[in-house]
Amino acid sequence: MDRIEEKICRLIDEHQEEIKAFGRDIWHHGEMGYKEVRTSEKFAEYGKKYGLVTEQGLAVTGVKCYLKGKEKKGITVAVVGEMDALPIPDHPDANPETGASHCCGHNAQLAGVVGAMMALTDEEVREAMEGNVVFLAAPAEEYVDLPFKQKLMEEGKIRYGGGKCELIRTGALDDVDIAIGHHTQPGEELVLSNSSSNGFVNKVVTYTGRAAHAAAAPQWGIDAQNAAVLAFHALDIQRESFQEKDFVRLHAVITRGGSAANIIADDVQMDASIRAKHIPAYIDAAKKADRAFRAGAVATGCGMKIETVPGYMPTVPCTDVKALEEALEDAAAGSYRITYQGADKHIAASTDFGDVSCLMPLLQFGTGGYEGQLHNPNVKVTDEYLAYVMTAKIFALTAYKLLKNGGDYAKALLDSYKAVLTKESYLALMDSMSTTEVKEMEPLEVV
Ligand SMILES: [Zn+2]
Ligand SMILES: [Zn+2]
Repeated sequence: MDRIEEKICRLIDEHQEEIKAFGRDIWHHGEMGYKEVRTSEKFAEYGKKYGLVTEQGLAVTGVKCYLKGKEKKGITVAVVGEMDALPIPDHPDANPETGASHCCGHNAQLAGVVGAMMALTDEEVREAMEGNVVFLAAPAEEYVDLPFKQKLMEEGKIRYGGGKCELIRTGALDDVDIAIGHHTQPGEELVLSNSSSNGFVNKVVTYTGRAAHAAAAPQWGIDAQNAAVLAFHALDIQRESFQEKDFVRLHAVITRGGSAANIIADDVQMDASIRAKHIPAYIDAAKKADRAFRAGAVATGCGMKIETVPGYMPTVPCTDVKALEEALEDAAAGSYRITYQGADKHIAASTDFGDVSCLMPLLQFGTGGYEGQLHNPNVKVTDEYLAYVMTAKIFALTAYKLLKNGGDYAKALLDSYKAVLTKESYLALMDSMSTTEVKEMEPLEVV
């Protein structure tokens, strides 16, 4: 570690009680996506306290604090923390009014970003960096609470579900060149996460039938549940066409079914997610899913509506992780084990960090300090130093290493990176996945 890096670690350690208190406060006040009003305000208060130009209300609740002012000077590194919680009211620390709880540990991300702010705003540290750092609080990573997001879409406040998708769309990432992201990984380790992950598209399928007495006169009915059941089987038979290299995941549930056994169901709704490692693969799988949904409607004569909404892009591993690797080793200082998840590891789940990784290099790491399973009410923080303070150190050290020495690491990283999409092709692709297909009911005469 050079002298400045030692100073970064020392400053963060000196502020550790404040960083832990911030992480704890966010933990106890979970808010769901695009509703992070209190969370974003708390974050913005820190930006203002440290004298940073602070923009609020980006993609509804997002916040951006500029270390060296808004004017673009050289390479800009964004230190990104997610703000949103999950609808898990069974968690002992769930928000009593909304049931939101931080069972995905996003509070640690935000505590880490605030902690990094405390060190990087030191005058000597700031001056040792070429380029700029943006401290970014991102809304709505979790793909939950869909009716609320739909309402925001109808009101024209958002176009896509994911917070980072909206940050890209609204131009909040236009001046960012490199992003650093973090995620909690229950356990006691530090993780260099450079794995790929699946992209996905989401579909809500509604079958409309005709109710009738299921025992006395079923011939007068058109069974919407039969359409859904047939669609499930048709989805199954698509699976043999998927290739292992693409990690296709196709899953659907019935979210609205029949009301009673003696009534032919006239209104059945399904929710489906179609995922794959590559964009062409999940678009192909989505077309096959549409065929399966149509099959249910064709065979039964039900009406059908397929509403398609783009989800997230696949995560593209970073080509050069030197800055992050060194930051993890420095922060660990021999006291923590570091696990390496390389580009050969693939995660079948999805994140809107994937969207960011298609446009710019994304360095991602994990820290422990939690136990339990993410997205489960048993999640709890067991080591606040590891969960919050170590996160702050790794964020700050990575940003500093990218921009020190005239920004040579940042330049090398940008030189080695090839964007999968431009902002324009990204938006065109997202919009091409926002579709509605309608098929009218086709009842036959009862003979
Ligand atoms: Zn999550
Ligand atoms: Zn998460």
